[in-house]
Amino acid sequence: MDTKKCTKCELVKPLGDFYKGRAQCKDCMKQAAAERYAALPAEEKARTPEQLEAHRVAMRDARRKAREKSPEEFRAERAAKQRAWREKRKAEELAAKIEALRAKREGL
Ligand SMILES: [Zn+2]
Repeated sequence: MDTKKCTKCELVKPLGDFYKGRAQCKDCMKQAAAERYAALPAEEKARTPEQLEAHRVAMRDARRKAREKSPEEFRAERAAKQRAWREKRKAEELAAKIEALRAKREGL
């Protein structure tokens, strides 16, 4: 069976444990979604499914309008966001590695 390694928990799991095209396993994606949800302000949690859908559509339309208005700027902004996200993740990974090394050393 085909497997791949989750970039978050670093466990090797069957492809069925991953959403298509995702680097993190379903368990990690679900956990991250639950954490994101928990971090939301109460008024956002109180939104009805209709409000959530309206918000989703509004965000999608805003993205489309921004892209149509100035494709260059839209691409540049998206690239900047992706770069920032990658850098944040790198920093988090480094912090986790340092923490793991510290735990190991203190455990000795
Ligand atoms: Zn995982």
